Amino acid sequence: MPEGDTVWRTALHLDRALTGSELLGTDFRVPAHATLDLSGQQVVATVSRGKHLLTRIGEQHTLHTHLKMEGAWHLYRTGTRWRRPAHEARVVLRTEQWTAVGFALGIVEVVARDAENTVVGHLGPDLLGPDWDEEEALHRLLVDPARPVAEALLDQRCLAGVGDVYKAEVLFLMGVSPLTPVGDVPDLRRTVRLARQLLTANRLTPTQATTGVTRRGEQNWVFGRAGKPCRRCGTRVESELQGQQPRQRITYWCPSCQPVRQPRAPS
Ligand SMILES: [Zn+2]
Repeated sequence: MPEGDTVWRTALHLDRALTGSELLGTDFRVPAHATLDLSGQQVVATVSRGKHLLTRIGEQHTLHTHLKMEGAWHLYRTGTRWRRPAHEARVVLRTEQWTAVGFALGIVEVVARDAENTVVGHLGPDLLGPDWDEEEALHRLLVDPARPVAEALLDQRCLAGVGDVYKAEVLFLMGVSPLTPVGDVPDLRRTVRLARQLLTANRLTPTQATTGVTRRGEQNWVFGRAGKPCRRCGTRVESELQGQQPRQRITYWCPSCQPVRQPRAPS
């Protein structure tokens, strides 16, 4: 699933290609907006909010999209061939130069500009946002201190942008078991800062690497490496589904580098 860095970069590319141009054609291939036509309007901006994308069109509309699992925005020179099947397209925005196609998007909805808050207002501080607020993110993470840290980091209402890759990698680098209650993480502030650093470092490149090595198969410490030896200590990397059905998410960790801490003695 694309994480905050990928979404941030997608917003940048859409913004560069479309902003300031008039739409010559639009095609919303979702039932709610099948008859909507925004051609003739100018694209004002595309911005990311965590893993959400907002494309502002004309004075009144905002297109809200989310990549979810398989989604992607592609940019093509108008008139050139698409690289994914047309039946996967959920939205098409065409300008004279560029055609932006949103394939297999998890969310496609058009809302009024002044109603953007109804679709992204629930999000916590955006790790890659201009208005990032570390104190607020820490406060939100600690609202439920008993919750496992791996689940808390994924909760976009606490902080927006972390997905399974960064969750696993940050906890490995901090030596923290994913099962640790978020209130017991020894240095939660540093953990959050590290998540932000990793997302920031990766936001301009399509190859996501947390090890500093971009070669395929060497980009991550534990993510996607179940059963393989830990790069630091050689212990078998474990994986497990964490959280409540149906929202379970996979977690990877090294049991030696990320030992489960004994619960604090009751005071
Ligand atoms: Zn290890």
